[in-house]
Amino acid sequence: MEHKRRNVFFTAVKISVSLAIFLLFAYFISLMSGFAPFFDKSAKANAVRDVREDMAGVTALFEAHYSNLYDLAEELVYAESKAEVDKTLKPHIGTDMFGDIRYFAQGIEYAANGLPVTNDEAGIIQALNSSTRPVCTDLYFDEAVSMDCVALYIPVKGSAYIDGLVGILPARGCISLEGMLNGNASVLAFISEDGMVMAESKEGTFTHSIGNNFYDFIKKITNNADYFAEVREAVASDGVHSGIITISGVQYVYATGEIGGTDGKFSIVTLSPATRMTETELDYVSHLIYVLILAIIFLLVSLVYTVMFQHKAKQEQKNAALHDATLECANEEAFRRRCIEIQSETPSTKHVIFTMQIRQFHFVQGKLGQDKCTEVLKFTADVINNFCNEHETFGYAGDGTFLLCHSYRNEANLKNRIQVLIAIINKCGVLTEFNTSIAFHIGVCFDFGIKKRTMREIIDCAYVATESAKNKPHIPYVIYDESVNQEIIRQEQLESEMEEALEGADFKVFMQPKYDIKQDKIHSAEALVRWFDKKKNDYRFPGEFIDLFESNGFIIKLDHFVFVEVCKYMQAAAAHRDPIVPVSVNVSRVTAIQDDFINFYVGNKQKYNIPDGFLTLEFTESFAMEDYDTIYRIVNRLHANGIHCSIDDFGSGYSSFNILKSIQMDELKLDRFFLEKGVDETRDSKLLMTVINLAKSLGMTVVQEGVETREMYEKIAAMGCDALQGYYYAKALPLEEYKVFVTTNTSIKYKSRVK
Ligand code: C2E
Ligand code: CA
Ligand code: CA
Repeated sequence: MEHKRRNVFFTAVKISVSLAIFLLFAYFISLMSGFAPFFDKSAKANAVRDVREDMAGVTALFEAHYSNLYDLAEELVYAESKAEVDKTLKPHIGTDMFGDIRYFAQGIEYAANGLPVTNDEAGIIQALNSSTRPVCTDLYFDEAVSMDCVALYIPVKGSAYIDGLVGILPARGCISLEGMLNGNASVLAFISEDGMVMAESKEGTFTHSIGNNFYDFIKKITNNADYFAEVREAVASDGVHSGIITISGVQYVYATGEIGGTDGKFSIVTLSPATRMTETELDYVSHLIYVLILAIIFLLVSLVYTVMFQHKAKQEQKNAALHDATLECANEEAFRRRCIEIQSETPSTKHVIFTMQIRQFHFVQGKLGQDKCTEVLKFTADVINNFCNEHETFGYAGDGTFLLCHSYRNEANLKNRIQVLIAIINKCGVLTEFNTSIAFHIGVCFDFGIKKRTMREIIDCAYVATESAKNKPHIPYVIYDESVNQEIIRQEQLESEMEEALEGADFKVFMQPKYDIKQDKIHSAEALVRWFDKKKNDYRFPGEFIDLFESNGFIIKLDHFVFVEVCKYMQAAAAHRDPIVPVSVNVSRVTAIQDDFINFYVGNKQKYNIPDGFLTLEFTESFAMEDYDTIYRIVNRLHANGIHCSIDDFGSGYSSFNILKSIQMDELKLDRFFLEKGVDETRDSKLLMTVINLAKSLGMTVVQEGVETREMYEKIAAMGCDALQGYYYAKALPLEEYKVFVTTNTSIKYKSRVK
């Protein structure tokens, strides 16, 4: 589950990282495709854009100068005398705005001091006077102000004293291009139509002093007459133009456009390296770089995150692989690793590895419910943990199985430790609440520290011993040795054969007659199963396979088989009018707790028409003890259907007289143990007497098992026992022999003699 969730998370991270990379990539591509046209338009467009800006700047300058001139002209319209004209103009001469101001009156050019201009040798100003519109001169050297100037002329209408006004503007001030050079352009020049450079930016790379011809300059630096013509044509044509020329192998873009604000034909020309980028492009590139950096950061972060996450996930996986999540303790693998460490930490200390597997764990689970069962497991883990010192450990392998590694002095010491552990575990609140206890199958392996075995093998040996312990409920634990292994192999062999044996009728029902002491004749019989081994041509006894079948569940089929066989025999015997005595059938605890248990037994009793009182089911004492409620219900329902119930092997375990009192059993079978000679014979006899009397007082038939001698027979007869079962009277007989047995004289004198 945990693993699945982690996988989903991993996939989600992978998908989102790939998606993010894809989106970034797509974004990048879209930026690139948006960026490409910029380069396509190339530097030409940039140069044109720059030149337009420059044109606008210079045009604005000229417009400002004209507007100043117009302001003056407006004032002059109202002048009433020439003296007033002079007076109005005078303050404006030699200012920042105007280097000089002149005017025309009736064709004569006057200086602002009112005197006619005598040294207009170039005649430039004079030429303006013929224009009826505002005009501008080319750059010229003005003698009066001794500097390069541009003259602006506007006609003044409506005045008797002035025809036109001329503003002489120092070229430096009126068409200053300083600070206008865009980006890293190499040339910015202000030229007249014939190519005369009237102003230039001093910041440019190429120098061409004012007054020189720009076209010649182009020819000179490009060493190409074609460029001379091309640029000249571009300047001459209307609008803004651009083109590429090569200067010393490097491509340059020229751009040119006419400026406004004057009637004269003036243009701006720029020259810039073709590779130059505009600010917008630089912005674009820096934006791209920014996005790229972001993408790289994002990728790095997600990479680091993924690596960290994977590392964490690996760590978690590793931890999960070494941890039992429910009990929050080491699992089998962690246990194994810790054992290896312990081995090297304390090589001289004797250690043992053993398992503690809750007996009939699934049954316990079903009885307590999942949650309560987990509580018991947690409690058990706590108890075991508290028992472990620094160099001891334990782990939970699932299915009610704990693995322990303890140091020990000797076997007695180990045995004692195990007993104490079990006793404390059974103090668990849940178990008390359910009025029940748990037992363990324990498999021990002493081979810890023996170099030839790996830790995994040692643990496996403990497991093998546990398997063997399942079939030996009466001993506290099984120690692994080669015979245990052999035993497991033998069991596996039996398991592989059992189904086939049942189908092939290799299981046979034997009958052991019980003797009625008072009436001196057969009392009843007990059905006992045998397994015929064809290979050995001999019978296998139940002791070899019953425990195994109880642990693997096959006992259910076998018990059913025996019961049906008995029913069939009785039905046939009745049909033949043969004498019939009641028959007891053994029922394993596993069979008895099945849901269909009553239905099966009662159903077959009815199916074969067996009269009430002729069938008895034997339940072991330990089952009655362990599962008090279940047995109580079962007995009541069996009684209601005419089937008798018997407690088998009474006295073999923790006999409880309480069961006798509270559950209405019909028969009590005393275990052979009561006949064994103990230390204190009189005490034993007293005990036996007490049990017999109690059972009889409760209305039960008392049967003594394992009566082998005349002495035993006399002893129990004297004590008032109702019946006996044992070799002294009869052993278990094949059905055919049994049939003969019941029809002959069944007196004990006769039978014991026969035997
Ligand atoms: P059990 O129910 O106590 O059966 C009596 C056992 O004692 C039988 O052993 C019988 O042969 C043996 N026995 C009878 N008289 C004497 C005697 O005088 N001395 C000695 N030493 N033993 C005597 P068996 O047939 O080997 O059965 C052993 C156990 O296997 C049975 O003990 C019973 O618990 C179980 N078993 C036998 N058949 C079945 C069966 O069909 N179903 C189940 N669930 N268990 C069965
Ligand atoms: Ca029995
Ligand atoms: Ca018995």
